[in-house]
Amino acid sequence: MLEVADLHAFYGESHVLHGVSLTVPKGEVVTLLGRNGAGKTTTLRSIMGIVPRRDGSIRMEGTETVGLAPHRIPRLGIGFVPEERGIFSSLDVEENLMLPPVVRPGGMAVEDIFRLFPNLKERRRSQGTKLSGGEQQMLAIARILRTGATLLLLDEPTEGLAPVIVQQIGRVIRELKAKGFTILLVEQNFRFAATLADRHYVMEDGRIVDMIPNEQLEANMERLHEYLGV
Ligand code: ATP
Repeated sequence: MLEVADLHAFYGESHVLHGVSLTVPKGEVVTLLGRNGAGKTTTLRSIMGIVPRRDGSIRMEGTETVGLAPHRIPRLGIGFVPEERGIFSSLDVEENLMLPPVVRPGGMAVEDIFRLFPNLKERRRSQGTKLSGGEQQMLAIARILRTGATLLLLDEPTEGLAPVIVQQIGRVIRELKAKGFTILLVEQNFRFAATLADRHYVMEDGRIVDMIPNEQLEANMERLHEYLGV
């Protein structure tokens, strides 16, 4: 579904991605693991076209996106949930849900979104500021489902959340996969990633240094610990 080949990204003079190549097959959950500063967020931002400069190739269902203006990329069916979530604190849950434009046919109806996130339905009139970190994360994911995105880029959705909430996020990601969504997930928590993903890419210093199918993760634990410094 998504094919990234020899991707380079730059912030001004600073060259931060050095030839990243990865594949996200349709219907799979793929993770991007790596230490802080490895270039995971920059990879997602490059896919969305929101870095100052990128070179190489990023194909979404065959369409080349390098060279496209950033506003055209969501229309190809790619949705991005950034680490900072971007919930509007003065708006309530339902208003936040209605904000992103539906850019493609096939976006989920609000009632279907509430079926997937029953806790958001209960809180539909609560202001953004009143939501817990977990609820904000759920809302950030829920919101992107309205747009018609079929490939979801999730940047560290479990960061800073309590274990019970992390499990809830895991359940949502599994349900989205079962509904046919394709997911590229940036994670530091590889134990969480292992419960969801089909394959894992490992990044170091702006490069992909390994790809581990999930069924081989246990056998490669030692290697993974070295990469992640845990
Ligand atoms: P983290 O988990 O800390 O977000 P990451 O793997 O997502 O780590 P990136 O945020 O992609 O890493 O950062 C990759 C490199 O690019 C780092 O060296 C970082 O300092 C640099 N970088 C990130 N954003 C910018 C920016 N806006 N301007 C300049 N350099 C940046």
